[in-house]
Amino acid sequence: MSNDVIDRPPRSRVVWGTVAGAIVILLVLALTAGWAASRPSTVTVDGVSREVSNGATVRTLGPGTYRSSAGDMLAVDGTVTRVRGGQPIQVLRNGHPATPDELLHSGDVIVSRPGADLRESLETTEVSVPFAISYLGKGSLIEERVPGVPGVRLVTRGALSGVEVSSTVLIQPNDAVVQRFHPRAGTKVVALTFDDGPWPKSTEAILDVLKREQVPGTFFMLGVRVKKAPAVARRVVAEGHQVANHTLGHRLLTKEKPKEIKHQIRGGAAAIKKYTGVSTRWLRPPYGGMNAKSWKVARVEKVHVVIWDVDSKDWTKPGAQKIASNVVRHAKPGSIILMHDGGGDRSQTVKALPTIIKKLRAKGYLFVTVEELYAVKRAPK
Ligand SMILES: [Zn+2]
Repeated sequence: MSNDVIDRPPRSRVVWGTVAGAIVILLVLALTAGWAASRPSTVTVDGVSREVSNGATVRTLGPGTYRSSAGDMLAVDGTVTRVRGGQPIQVLRNGHPATPDELLHSGDVIVSRPGADLRESLETTEVSVPFAISYLGKGSLIEERVPGVPGVRLVTRGALSGVEVSSTVLIQPNDAVVQRFHPRAGTKVVALTFDDGPWPKSTEAILDVLKREQVPGTFFMLGVRVKKAPAVARRVVAEGHQVANHTLGHRLLTKEKPKEIKHQIRGGAAAIKKYTGVSTRWLRPPYGGMNAKSWKVARVEKVHVVIWDVDSKDWTKPGAQKIASNVVRHAKPGSIILMHDGGGDRSQTVKALPTIIKKLRAKGYLFVTVEELYAVKRAPK
């Protein structure tokens, strides 16, 4: 047996040494790889060098990184309706169009191209063309002879801006014709009319004068006032006067939409019907204001529109004498005389009324209601 026994480590120690060495190598490799992975990459974006973290994509760069910007959305007239509302920018990576999810590599050259402007789309719609009103003749009586018919216009506009590009009338509107006329020649009659009531005290004082003088009047009542003074409204009916509609709440109908015009007309008539039992189709629009819209509603609602040709101007409170002379001087056969029993202090009107009746009587006039005045017009010759 040889003595040169090589002092060999036990077999197990050899194995363990090899494993430890491998672990060290692996650790070094891993650390190196990790360092490489966490090391920022450098790319060039529109000529500017930028550091991006590893794993960054084209999307990571974000819109603020680029020199170019998206296009605008243009209106039909070329003005900008939405800034950056056009095509997005185009991004090239190393000369090729890049998708947002593409990974960036160190040394990449990124170039942006501006997005194109877009032009808004066009929309064509049919628009109603309002009709006008032709007034024919003169006189206190008024009637719609020919109903107006709106026309149709084709309008092309920018869908976003609303800017009109073109407009073509497809159907011309037909104007309404409103005839004004006098009652039959030779009939010396006038109608006294009172607006804005019923009004406690004023209306009652006027009723007292009319009763004493045996003169009929026409009272254009407001729905809201009828609700507040129903007993006065009933007294007007009981004493033989004509009760008529002055709308629900005294709105200027020319400023209202058809739906509200209808509500105002129906509301006034409904209140009169409810509290007095009278159905009336006679309407005096507040301020006498009528236009194409309100004439159309009036026709659909089958109401007779009443205006006036003599304004007492009692609403300006010029004194009883002046009110009386305003009426007496201007009254003609067939006149409809405007006065007020409601809307405030009407003591001047009350005071002027006996003088008006006396002086017109002296000139040979008879007093009738508005309904009777229109009947005189229609009576056969
Ligand atoms: Zn009024």
